[in-house]
Amino acid sequence: MNFSQKVLEIFKDITRVPRESGHEEHITAYLQKFAADRGLECKTDSTGNVLIVKSAAPGKENVPAIALQSHQDMVCEKDGDFAFDFAHDAVPYEIEDGWMIARHTTLGADDGIGIAASLALLDSDIPMGKLECLFTISEETGMDGAFALESGFFDARTLINLDSEDEGLIFVGCAGGIDTTATYQYTQEEVRPGTLTISLRISGALGGHSGDDIDKGRVNALQQLCRFLYSRLREDWQLVSLSGGNKPNAICREAGAVVAVPAGDAASWADAFRAFGATLKAEYSTSDPSVEAVAADAAPASHAICDDVTVRLVSALFGLPHGVAAMSMDIPGLVQTSSNLAAVRMDTPGEITVITSQRSSVVSELHAIASKVEAVFLLSGADVRHHGEYPGWKPNMSSHILKVSVESYKKLFGCDPEIKAIHAGLECGLFLDKFPYLDMISIGPTLRGVHAPGERLDLASLDKFCDHLADIVTNFQ
Ligand SMILES: [Zn+2]
Repeated sequence: MNFSQKVLEIFKDITRVPRESGHEEHITAYLQKFAADRGLECKTDSTGNVLIVKSAAPGKENVPAIALQSHQDMVCEKDGDFAFDFAHDAVPYEIEDGWMIARHTTLGADDGIGIAASLALLDSDIPMGKLECLFTISEETGMDGAFALESGFFDARTLINLDSEDEGLIFVGCAGGIDTTATYQYTQEEVRPGTLTISLRISGALGGHSGDDIDKGRVNALQQLCRFLYSRLREDWQLVSLSGGNKPNAICREAGAVVAVPAGDAASWADAFRAFGATLKAEYSTSDPSVEAVAADAAPASHAICDDVTVRLVSALFGLPHGVAAMSMDIPGLVQTSSNLAAVRMDTPGEITVITSQRSSVVSELHAIASKVEAVFLLSGADVRHHGEYPGWKPNMSSHILKVSVESYKKLFGCDPEIKAIHAGLECGLFLDKFPYLDMISIGPTLRGVHAPGERLDLASLDKFCDHLADIVTNFQ
């Protein structure tokens, strides 16, 4: 069995191990047993991060140590009607046309392939220096493991992160981020007599990841809904509720409002909203061809948000920065700074919460865009807090591990790899906090549709990724 086949066999084995973020105990035990069975040094910190160490091969004692890093958890998403329990069941996959694919669930190649590649190297007789394999926990839900990692947990000064999704690309930088949350307090007012209640809904937008997809210019359903509501602020109506969006790192695909309007105006509201839907379809015909705006009768409501807060909320959500704020002037095509208006919730009576997130690979710009969002919220009378800040990873084009991996790639495949930074968070940014001297790259095989049912792994790219990784650790000096 060659190295790549071995990685695939180990990954198939890992598809049977439950590992949802926050419930990594089975995969942690799997890693510990893997080390114990082979007499490898293994330690686990109080957070659940695991380190397995393989000492240098004879004659390789003077080669600097390399850390390989992957994350233990996976995103667990499945089709709504698909009977499946991520806490017990093995992920069902098929192999078809050169892809390994999970049709109705996530596959967990993000980052099961990183785990499998690390374990395959730990179990191999490839001659290399000291290898330290780090397996962090809960990357997908806030990088908890990377945040909690203690300096000194591993010794290597070179780290290869195995959590990228494009073979042939070597990642050398990532964005930092921060979440900004605003809260509006409102008084409940009685719905005025003689009104009809209408629901307004924008759906069918593509959404996407607030880092990777923010430059696609897609519809933000919540902001567009507020654009429509803003156009009617001078009229007599009441906002019963506003909701939309989900996670801070997702672009809002769907948003809805319930409004109480004078009975005589109901038809004009429905017409205007339909016309607005046509406008959106025309404006976004390239990015979001299926976007729609639908008005419908709703159950009568007794209470609404007070007028004062309605004006401030709708104006703020329409006026907030959303999308790309700056492109990199050094790396072509790289979004440098952005903001995402993510979600609105009304879970607590009398309170409206707005969730936003900002990203930048430049710390000062990250703080500036977060302050700009804060300024709009403050102007509109909200309480604002910033939380969950994590640092970025600034590209170092003269990195040693970058040079080694580029030379290896050219030797193996006869062409140059592409060198990129991403506008999303990687754990690498957090490692720099505790291990500021670290020299890093991030690589991986080609994955598509990660974090959603249908996630798939390109098997030809897995072969190349494995050959590349093995060659790097063999020839590293
Ligand atoms: Zn991942």
